[in-house]
Amino acid sequence: MSERHDVTAPNDPRLIELRERLGIVRTRIAAATEAAGRQGNLPELIVVTKFHPADDVRRLAALGVADVGENRDQEASDKAARLSALGLRWHFVGQLQSNKAKSVVRYAHAIHSVDRPQLASALARSIATEQESTGRGPLECFIQVSLDDDAGSHRGGASRLDVPALADQLAGSPGLVLAGLMAVAPLGSDPDAAFGRLAEISARLLEDHPSASGISAGMSQDLEAAVRAGATHLRIGSDILGSRPALR
Ligand SMILES: *Cc1c(COP(=O)(O)O)cnc(C)c1O
Repeated sequence: MSERHDVTAPNDPRLIELRERLGIVRTRIAAATEAAGRQGNLPELIVVTKFHPADDVRRLAALGVADVGENRDQEASDKAARLSALGLRWHFVGQLQSNKAKSVVRYAHAIHSVDRPQLASALARSIATEQESTGRGPLECFIQVSLDDDAGSHRGGASRLDVPALADQLAGSPGLVLAGLMAVAPLGSDPDAAFGRLAEISARLLEDHPSASGISAGMSQDLEAAVRAGATHLRIGSDILGSRPALR
């Protein structure tokens, strides 16, 4: 077998590129946090690696990234299995079918896209079985809430009216931790206004669930607006990894 190129060698061109892009994004996050008067209260950076190869995840880990995001179970479970030695936290950020719950709980640290009671039930059942056989820790769950004004430009998520019941369900499920809320700003709308609505929904949620303070918001295009609105978790893909290869 020929010797494999070490993708984390200091002269690897892609490693150098990722270091530079990651540095720019980290600088943007620090500047936005400072500008928002959040005094060093930096949000967590989740690097969304979907469609990019496992070797890029290896490089990111070598650059100090500890949290990565994926949006398809097949791809995520393959990568997580191959890269298990790296000790990364895997965040599932995509739409999830209930029949994938069993698979996702094998590798995911957090699910950012819980949007309906059936999915919450499936996750509760699956995590119970998984914890029994592996002793793994609890699964963090963010409720994805829709910020659309109308039903037209739907980017997924529960209606804000459905948040309280879903929150109670998650909080009452052993093995699941209600971490907070997640949202994607509606296409073509003002992200400050959208994330402002999210902050209101979060404040309302905190009245019933004081520990559910997570706000997962902000992508490459709108991370500054998300930081202004109090985001605790940013999900950044293309500004770090470049544009995604076409769907395979
Ligand atoms: C792909 C994706 C991201 C990252 O988006 P970029 O625009 O590439 O930064 C964040 N959140 C979700 C839910 C995604 O699907």
